[in-house]
Amino acid sequence: MKKTDRELGMLRQITRRDFIHGTSLAALGLMLPVGCGPSSKDSKVPSSSIGYPPTRTGMRGSHPGSFETAHALARDGVRFENPVDLDEEYDLVVVGAGISGLTAAYEYRKKFGPESRILILDNHDDFGGHARRNEFHQGGDMRLSWGGTMNLEYLSFTDPVLEFLAELGIDVRQLSKELDFHYGGDEPAIWFDADTFGSDVLVPGFSMYSRNLEVLDRIDQFPISESGRVALKQFYSSEANVLQGMSEREIEHVLRRTSYTDFLSRYAGLPDEVVDLFVKSTDGYWGVQPHSLSTTEALNAWLPGSHLLGDAADRAAGLQESETVAMFPDGNASIARLLVQSLIAGVAPGANAENIAVVRFDYDKLDRPGNSIRLRLESTAVHVVNESSRVAVTYVKDGLNKRVRGTHCVLACYHAIIPHLCPEIPEKQKEAARYQVKHPMLVTNVLLRSGKPFEKLGITGTYCPGRMHAKVWLIKGVNTAGYEGGRDVQGPVPVMFWGMVAPPRRDVPIHDQLRQSRQIMLEMTFEDYEREVRTVLDGMLSPAGFDAANDILAITVNRWPHGYAYGYLDLWDPEWEAGQAPHEIARQPVGNIVIANSDAAASAYTQAAIEEAFRAIDELS
Ligand SMILES: Cc1cc2nc3c(=O)[nH]c(=O)nc-3n(C[C@H](O)[C@H](O)[C@H](O)COP(=O)(O)OP(=O)(O)OC[C@H]3O[C@@H](n4cnc5c(N)ncnc54)[C@H](O)[C@@H]3O)c2cc1C
Repeated sequence: MKKTDRELGMLRQITRRDFIHGTSLAALGLMLPVGCGPSSKDSKVPSSSIGYPPTRTGMRGSHPGSFETAHALARDGVRFENPVDLDEEYDLVVVGAGISGLTAAYEYRKKFGPESRILILDNHDDFGGHARRNEFHQGGDMRLSWGGTMNLEYLSFTDPVLEFLAELGIDVRQLSKELDFHYGGDEPAIWFDADTFGSDVLVPGFSMYSRNLEVLDRIDQFPISESGRVALKQFYSSEANVLQGMSEREIEHVLRRTSYTDFLSRYAGLPDEVVDLFVKSTDGYWGVQPHSLSTTEALNAWLPGSHLLGDAADRAAGLQESETVAMFPDGNASIARLLVQSLIAGVAPGANAENIAVVRFDYDKLDRPGNSIRLRLESTAVHVVNESSRVAVTYVKDGLNKRVRGTHCVLACYHAIIPHLCPEIPEKQKEAARYQVKHPMLVTNVLLRSGKPFEKLGITGTYCPGRMHAKVWLIKGVNTAGYEGGRDVQGPVPVMFWGMVAPPRRDVPIHDQLRQSRQIMLEMTFEDYEREVRTVLDGMLSPAGFDAANDILAITVNRWPHGYAYGYLDLWDPEWEAGQAPHEIARQPVGNIVIANSDAAASAYTQAAIEEAFRAIDELS
């Protein structure tokens, strides 16, 4: 029987505020000297934690207060007139404090000298953009998780990116060696939920992704029809080449022009009920579902099927790329923190790549009048214009329109907002920028009282084909950069829900699918997300003694309506001529304004954000 909100613990206040056992952190009065770098073992919670952005729970990512001004500008055409001119002059104003904006500030200082005066604006209450840290203290010792970008896929990093990271003290290979986290791949499982499949069924030891013939009998537990189970077993066990007799050209055409779901139906002969089991399988990895991905793209995302292609499997471009990554316990927020620490004196004394995960930052020092580099949060740029030899940047903070000027400006924000910020850019460039609709993404972290229910069930993560978040993982084994909190599951442990909000319609162009997902994501309340994660945890873990009403200590929803940069897709985008792709047109400099961020590479990777900052600063003289 479906549980009530009360039974699921929806009425517990603990999830919406920073409380320890029902007591506010401030009331506990636990003090810690700022920047002294506590280890996670002995860390105490500073009394100011309620205001300390990484510890904020509830709705994060694109949090309330961060996007309303930009929406008023872009959606409602509001003009922010008569700004107050501040008595502040900069060499550089950066819009966007993500990895790209911070890297741009760092590179600018290198190029133009240590005295460079730089202002970095960001609309959020924390820096890092998608590189966002989620810090929990509700169970006692600090527990970390990432609120957005996580992997450093360093095998594809260029030398300049590796050198840049080395300058920050980051040895990615060493970081990778210290990692013992496998995205649930070490003990995989599938969880079928009652709302979608009629009953809650957990199938441990089976992954939809890998073709492990030894565990095919687990399919017998799937709550689908008998004929569906037979078809799925045949799919994994078959050796047939379904493209037999086709020319290379035809094979290429099928793989690049057939969606993965169509491939499963048409070529692998799977019934709809079984194809539907794969529909959420690329949600987190791609932010696009397999009906909108080509077969090649889906196979590259580790989905099964290459065993049905004979020799063509090798030619289906880069199949089964290496999964080797390096990781910080708060994801790439550690890179953002190292950059901020390098840029702004006194914000985190003593912080370095070896302890960055456990160092406390002093946010009061981010924007000090005496500093040559200042980072101003909760400040949304609304107008950027070239004047004779300077750039004037108007932004909104605390409801007031303010204007600063800089010799140069880097727009390290989303391409899609740039036409609204910069009316002077050419129409063709505006059109190109609008083309790049980002993929909405969702990372929800839930702090559990203990990870023991996972242990008891013998799983470290599950794929949930019927739920909003496609994947759920226990976050342990990322004990890098001074953090020790991810060693065992006896005490509080974060569980990460990863995915996206599915588009309501599949039969519309990809840009509309992405916009529709984004809109739904924005309209959902925190309670909607909370009910979802409580329902999943209750259904999945209650057989192992988990009590959703008592065993959930905190929930942080990181919603990213503007998530991954738009990368071109086989099924939806033409092959652009060199220099004519939308991202190449959109990133052109305009006077003293240059453009960075991962949209400028049409690539949703940290290395792209870094490289685009390099390029943008190179363009300045
Ligand atoms: C959930 C998620 C997971 C990811 N995982 C990975 C991963 O594992 N590995 C990887 O390599 N990449 C990953 N990425 C891709 C990630 O987007 C890039 O790696 C990179 O962090 C992007 O940095 P950026 O600076 O270009 O953009 P952003 O991080 O988006 O930063 C831009 C900043 O500018 C701000 N801004 C926008 N408009 C304005 C304005 N008008 N005024 C002021 N500020 C503004 C934005 O709000 C934002 O804070 C992930 C992305 C998401 C969303």
